[in-house]
Amino acid sequence: MKITIIGGGAAGMMAAASASSCNPSANIQIIERNDKIGRKVVVSGGGRCNLTTGTTDINELMKNYPRGNRWLKFAMYEFSPKDCYAFFEAHGVKLKTEGNRVFPKSESGKDIVNMFLGIFKKNGVKVLYKKVVQGIKKDGDIFKVKLEDGFVLESDKVIITTGGSAYSATGSKGDGYKFAESLGHTITGIVPTLTSFSSNDVFIKELAGVSVKNVKIKLIVQKTYNFTGPFLFTHKGVSGPAIFALSAFSAYENFNNGARLYIDFVPYLNHEELRTKLSENLNNYFIRKVSKYTTKSLAEVFRIDRTKKVNEINKKEIASTIENLKNFKINIVGRIPGSEIVTAGGVSLKEVNKKTMESLITPGLYFAGEILDVDGLTGGYNLQNAWATGKLAGENVYTF
Ligand SMILES: Cc1cc2nc3c(=O)[nH]c(=O)nc-3n(C[C@H](O)[C@H](O)[C@H](O)COP(=O)(O)OP(=O)(O)OC[C@H]3O[C@@H](n4cnc5c(N)ncnc54)[C@H](O)[C@@H]3O)c2cc1C
Repeated sequence: MKITIIGGGAAGMMAAASASSCNPSANIQIIERNDKIGRKVVVSGGGRCNLTTGTTDINELMKNYPRGNRWLKFAMYEFSPKDCYAFFEAHGVKLKTEGNRVFPKSESGKDIVNMFLGIFKKNGVKVLYKKVVQGIKKDGDIFKVKLEDGFVLESDKVIITTGGSAYSATGSKGDGYKFAESLGHTITGIVPTLTSFSSNDVFIKELAGVSVKNVKIKLIVQKTYNFTGPFLFTHKGVSGPAIFALSAFSAYENFNNGARLYIDFVPYLNHEELRTKLSENLNNYFIRKVSKYTTKSLAEVFRIDRTKKVNEINKKEIASTIENLKNFKINIVGRIPGSEIVTAGGVSLKEVNKKTMESLITPGLYFAGEILDVDGLTGGYNLQNAWATGKLAGENVYTF
């Protein structure tokens, strides 16, 4: 049986590894546009490759997938983050956990790619580099995979792992959506997710580079979204894990009329407690007290008179400082184009068997990874999706 995997990213590499391990005599080929496989894996996690998460409870894990969480649960039970950790270590890549994020000890995604290349060599998986698939047709029981150079490859089974359309310079240009559509599938709305936001507030530039930990953020577009986590100011607006999470929850919202962020820098104190704290130690400089709850540059943006001591601050000044600390408003004008890390939307999950990854429309066709209508928050959840669905597709591709 000949199996063709289209796209040598995380899902394609895992599908090939698991298919070839299940049946070492199989004829498996990966078709990859680039001269290397796994380019996105190498750039992931800021170049350190946050390949999965430390979240082991499956119900907790599923909360990190704004779309596709119920459908994906089976795959996650089959290949959980714990299984994923064990898999890479068993294949010789030593891992480490930082907070809730798992990385190779070497902090290099290249070690992951080399691990897969080792498996391919051992199991005889072929990789056709610098080959671009242009279209796929099914003729009777045979798939005809047409390449840009005019060649047509015949295959008994096809696994589409072409990813989404974020960071298209890595080779993921959204080609798989049209292949899936041509084979009868529905593509749900494709939108960017895990994006930064831009702001037109004049103070933003003063704060570029300032990061804050574990603040409570409310985003109001048409609906309201809440998240607690770290974020940072950039030259154009705001970014960081909490902003990425909010961008994921609001991925299908229209930002044409702008949006507002409200930040509570001191979520662990209520207004009264904060008022008491700010009014203590009358001889201290007020700006120093406020900086304790944010950062110095933020306290300066609150336009606090740096020469005044606590005993010189009037009630109105205390009230406006508390408002800034508990309810700091940032005007959002939109998502920063091209800043997205992942694509939300994709092949409709109603049309894919969640236990095998096989198409319910075109037998013999499988999907895995970001091409599916599944997306996760930052923290290793998107690669975990690619590994888990890739593994299932590879294991099931031999069934008739
Ligand atoms: C900058 C960045 C950082 C990230 N960091 C993390 C992280 O730390 N942790 C995490 O979990 N997730 C992270 N992600 C997301 C994660 O990398 C992706 O969700 C995941 O790699 C998707 O895997 P995939 O195999 O589905 O698709 P991809 O990795 O996108 O692979 C698709 C492959 O298909 C090939 N291809 C596409 N079309 C064709 C065609 N027509 N012919 C031939 N080949 C084709 C592409 O060249 C590519 O190699 C990050 C993403 C980006 C962009």
